[in-house]
Amino acid sequence: MKIMVQKYGGTSVAGLERMKKVLSRVSKGVEEGFKVVVVLSAMSGETNKLIGLAKEFSSEPDSEEMDALVATGENVSVALFSILAKDNGIKAKSLQGWQVPILTTDAYKKARIVSIDAQKMRAMLEDIDVLVVAGFQGVDCHGRVTTLGRGGSDTTGVALAAALKADVCEIYTDVDGVFTTDPRVCSAARKLDVVSYDEMLELASSGSKVLQIRSVEFAKKYNVPVRVRSTFTDDPGTLVTQEDAMMEDLVISGIAFDRDQCRITVAKVKDKPGVAAAIFGAIAKQRILVDMIIQNTSSDGYTDMTFTISRADLDQTMAILEGVCKEIGAEGVQHDLNVAKVSVVGVGMRNHSGVASTMFQALQEENINIKLIATSEIKITCLIDEKYIELAVRALHTAFGLDKKAVQAC
Ligand code: ADP
Ligand code: ASP
Ligand code: MG
Repeated sequence: MKIMVQKYGGTSVAGLERMKKVLSRVSKGVEEGFKVVVVLSAMSGETNKLIGLAKEFSSEPDSEEMDALVATGENVSVALFSILAKDNGIKAKSLQGWQVPILTTDAYKKARIVSIDAQKMRAMLEDIDVLVVAGFQGVDCHGRVTTLGRGGSDTTGVALAAALKADVCEIYTDVDGVFTTDPRVCSAARKLDVVSYDEMLELASSGSKVLQIRSVEFAKKYNVPVRVRSTFTDDPGTLVTQEDAMMEDLVISGIAFDRDQCRITVAKVKDKPGVAAAIFGAIAKQRILVDMIIQNTSSDGYTDMTFTISRADLDQTMAILEGVCKEIGAEGVQHDLNVAKVSVVGVGMRNHSGVASTMFQALQEENINIKLIATSEIKITCLIDEKYIELAVRALHTAFGLDKKAVQAC
């Protein structure tokens, strides 16, 4: 049995005409002899609408019920698409997460996939040509509906491709593929023909929402080549795959940015063993992700601990830190929401020096102050004032020679 997984994002399923376009792609797959597993997102704007609605009912809606609510967006898409497919004579069936089932942890709003019943799906595909699966959602061991975090339908798509050992895995979206940076922010951005799993992981973790990071982790772990392409054009898109020697020729392959940042400083903590463990242990216990961490050098036996989190986690983090501050005798906690991070990513960075200095100089030329710096083997990230983020992206894109028709510098 030849299996093709195709995931379609919110803009691709926003209304009948767009769903017809999706149906013609899916039908082509069937005509080529594939069994097609179609993973759909909620129609564009629907998830945000549901979140907004819940906020009218409670300033802090219960997470378990939030998942029950927001998962309905995807339910609407798969039911409507299946109605359309059947109306066009296609043997199709819709499946919600619990019907697959896609078993997840019970970390509501950011659940992780534990297992997928691929055998049951394969058995269904003996009689059905197109299985239409709701993205973003699963079911936990208590039988409750869960969701996989914003953008989670990408992860559903890749995880299904891995579980089914699919021959093809395609992520259809509203741009032609993975670009050197968000083409909506930088008109000079170029589409990449190929990008390595590691680069895509760094781009996704740094804010390039074209793929959810968990989907890339799945793709890398199970070696699933993923093609990111547009629903609306015939461009072959970008292949996300294993690294090969050629890729290192390019020093920087992309610039990512993330506005969803909040900087927290725990002021005047004792510079002694156990302080970091107390702060980050308490935060981790609540499953809050911490991103950049900087500990200042100590003067008179005290230091400041600064780190960044997602804005959505601010209230919960501040509440946790109130208790921790008393415990460790810190002076207080400050936070800053007017920050964003910009990152340059490339596997070629491993063998090239000067990337950091090129980055800092480009930011300096635009008079942009750097508040925090973090590095990995193939990424350098700077936290800056949010109001300069688009300027920074464009300046770095030019500085690293990524602009269309330019020759790579550095
Ligand atoms: P979908 O609803 O199809 O999942 P998303 O909005 O989640 O689509 O992701 C696609 C968007 O990601 C694009 O419209 C684009 O603005 C944004 N994006 C950010 N960084 C990049 C990048 N490097 N390459 C392509 N798109 C990017
Ligand atoms: N509908 C969900 C969201 O908006 C999941 C997805 O689109 O991938 O985040
Ligand atoms: Mg998405």
